[in-house]
Amino acid sequence: MTTQSITILGATGSIGTSTLDVLGRHPERFRIHALSGHRRIELLAEQCVAFRPARAVVPDAPAAIRLRQLVGDLALDISHGRAALCEIAREAEVVMAGIVGAAGLESALAAACAGRKVLLANKEALVMGGALFMDAVVHHGATLLPIDSEHNAIFQCLPRGRDTSDPRDGIARIILTASGGPFRTTPLEDLRNVTPDQACAHPNWVMGRKISVDSATMMNKGLEVIEARWLFDQPAGNIDVLIHPQSVIHSLVAYVDGSVIAELGNPDMRTPIAHALAYPERITTGVAPLDLARIASLHFEEPDFERFPCLKLAYAALAAGAAAPAVLNAANEIAVEAFLAGSIGFLDIARVVEATLESYSPSAPEDLAALIEIDTRAREFAARAMEKVA
Ligand code: NAD
Ligand code: MG
Repeated sequence: MTTQSITILGATGSIGTSTLDVLGRHPERFRIHALSGHRRIELLAEQCVAFRPARAVVPDAPAAIRLRQLVGDLALDISHGRAALCEIAREAEVVMAGIVGAAGLESALAAACAGRKVLLANKEALVMGGALFMDAVVHHGATLLPIDSEHNAIFQCLPRGRDTSDPRDGIARIILTASGGPFRTTPLEDLRNVTPDQACAHPNWVMGRKISVDSATMMNKGLEVIEARWLFDQPAGNIDVLIHPQSVIHSLVAYVDGSVIAELGNPDMRTPIAHALAYPERITTGVAPLDLARIASLHFEEPDFERFPCLKLAYAALAAGAAAPAVLNAANEIAVEAFLAGSIGFLDIARVVEATLESYSPSAPEDLAALIEIDTRAREFAARAMEKVA
């Protein structure tokens, strides 16, 4: 077996640590080229000592000094800043794009432009710049494998992975499952006062705080509908959302003959991560086997758009096209950050996103610089919208 080099962007996050857990079980398959971390420098130092990457990237010079102090004379090239993140994304054969939010776009795109095997967890990159990103993948011959559990499931349920272009495949619909998050059954009048910790207490998955809040508002599912549109080149009208609180079925594909193919498993991100790492082979993960007899029954329901206005806003942004999904994403990041900081309420998140979409509708970006400009301006509009709701 040939050993492949891998970079993990966002090694200290939930996706990053799960990726290292799987890699640690298969040391013969991968050589870790580089790890990046943003705030948890102590954890990054521990990871560098345990996994011996050639390079580590941190946000700034003080963090680089701190990391050097922590690792002592370990052989490790430490650099900092956005350009260094793009370098480590270009240098390895396989890249896990595990940074959260718009901050992960540039490095994920750098990996695609270098024709790498890109394992994409950072859904925001596709939401912001779907057309740009997919063009880069095709143009530079990159291999794009979805890590988001729903999209990884769909990839596994399609006969030719992401490629849905052959009408003989008979694909009718893509069905994304959603747990409904922690507030699926909370009385609507109580939602106004829920706290960040309540919003982050996801019933099935342990994740970073931003995606946990997105799951509670169901903006996460909205972002995933947009992500699916680009990954599988399917129109929004063919992409459904189905509430399935147990998160055992990770998503489904319905075919014209009435067949429906689903991927099932315990909710543990090590499964999609391992699938993409080893694809087209299969490797072990430490994930407990699925015990359907114990689960006994699976539950489903329609999504409630009144309870989850963010889901509706995401479908609307996708229908509006141009740069609306990038504006939606930027406004959501600003609003979620403010909610986590305690400066706006839970229900204000959707209000801020809606007001931002109403006040700013730029045309589609032609390149990365234009996209970053739109993201920056959308954040300014969102900050203004926030003053009004707060
Ligand atoms: P997290 O908050 O746990 O980790 C985020 C990582 O990004 C950390 O390593 C952090 O150091 C890094 N980071 C944060 N801000 C940065 C910045 N400005 N510049 C550079 N690096 C920065 O988040 P997560 O839950 O691991 O999610 C990561 C991505 O994966 C998100 O896009 C999320 O939507 C997606 N995703 C996560 C899960 C999950 O189970 N956690 C599932 C599906 C998709
Ligand atoms: Mg998901």
